[in-house]
Amino acid sequence: MNGHLLELKNITQKYGRGARRITAVENVNLTVDEGEFVALLGPSGCGKSTLLRIITGLNRPAEGQVLYRGQPLNGVNPHATIVFQTFALFPWLTVQQNVEVALKARGIPPEQRAERSVALLDMVGLDGFETAYPRELSGGMRQKVGFARAMAVEPELLCLDEAFSALDVLSADSLRGELLELWTSGVMPTKAILMVTHNIEEAVFMADRVVIMDKQPGRVIADRKITLPHPRQRKSPEFLEVLDRVYALLAGQTQPEYIELGTAPGEAGRTRALPDVSVGELAGLLEFLDEMPGDRTDVYRLEHELGLGTTAVLHLTEAAELLGFATIAKGDIALTPLGETFAEASILARKEIFATRIRRLPMFKWLLAMLNATDKRRLDRDVIRLALELEFSPEDAARQVELAIDWGRYAELLEYDDSEEIIYQELPEAVAG
Ligand code: ADP
Ligand code: MG
Repeated sequence: MNGHLLELKNITQKYGRGARRITAVENVNLTVDEGEFVALLGPSGCGKSTLLRIITGLNRPAEGQVLYRGQPLNGVNPHATIVFQTFALFPWLTVQQNVEVALKARGIPPEQRAERSVALLDMVGLDGFETAYPRELSGGMRQKVGFARAMAVEPELLCLDEAFSALDVLSADSLRGELLELWTSGVMPTKAILMVTHNIEEAVFMADRVVIMDKQPGRVIADRKITLPHPRQRKSPEFLEVLDRVYALLAGQTQPEYIELGTAPGEAGRTRALPDVSVGELAGLLEFLDEMPGDRTDVYRLEHELGLGTTAVLHLTEAAELLGFATIAKGDIALTPLGETFAEASILARKEIFATRIRRLPMFKWLLAMLNATDKRRLDRDVIRLALELEFSPEDAARQVELAIDWGRYAELLEYDDSEEIIYQELPEAVAG
């Protein structure tokens, strides 16, 4: 007897015909066990939705086998449900009736449906809204109805396809919290969750395992357990360390960090200068590469395509490589899955990704430690500049400070008061108040 709840064996899926035929996913092996919450991460087009459709039996794979509780899957899997990015609710039915539809489809007798749907709505925090119509609800609340409807099916395997990505930040956060509480408290009958997401922090916050995919063709490139206990603290050093490791997997990082990143100012070894680029220019490069057909671009073409000089292109590609957004080999530049994720992310998600990447640079570790060591978290720009002059020429030191401010502000790791020339951080409320 096979112990896995779900097992994918050498799954390959192709779309289109003739010359236009593409391999969407190739040779994917993946298992999900009872009790596991697995997050599936990867850039757009790497085949995440394709895999969910195959897992739930909505599509058959071109090659390979899906085993559910050890049995080959034939047709739609009645034990699995997908929650999509946006839920199609019936606009003419109330919230409660929308959930009852799912109960009816499951063959629950009419006299039980009302009570059950009220309980499900309560579970997702929608008590009091039973008689409302979908148009009266915010996007976040509509998505909650969607969750209630998915839960009405009592799926053993709950699949989420970017289920939080269309919501505003607050609704997404509250719905994540709600789901996590249902899951960790064992109230839900669900045995396992498979969550597709673009949001790396969301994956590390919620899942017990992250599976990372890359595209062209879609395939699994890493599979790691996350053993942090719940509830997880987003700002704790342990959380940030795991987050960092997941980013490194997405960046395909291979070099030990001290070689790659250099040392901090004042430490023995070489302090690596921040490449002379603005965040805006870097984002422009990543977007350009993301839109290029194929996955490699000649570096020399960038000068012409981006209308930049050789030095500017060198700085840009160095920054992309330093931050793990791209790899450069034999004169070609290629985005890493992390670079693709950045190029396709919302502004907020970009800031998060950027912050996580620059926090590992010795220059920022040093700067943040210096800020932390002051009682009011305020530093004169000149103090930093003079410290850097021990290792850089005066012009370079001044430029490094400007870059650190530009990058740090974008990442929201620090703030800068232009008139007073002070680098500072807002004190956490508990300390300030
Ligand atoms: P993801 O969910 O990771 O963004 P998808 O599974 O949607 O990726 O798509 C994987 C690849 O397959 C992409 O290149 C996409 O364009 C292609 N694809 C997906 N669905 C179809 C389809 N129905 N017909 C043709 N190509 C498709
Ligand atoms: Mg998708």
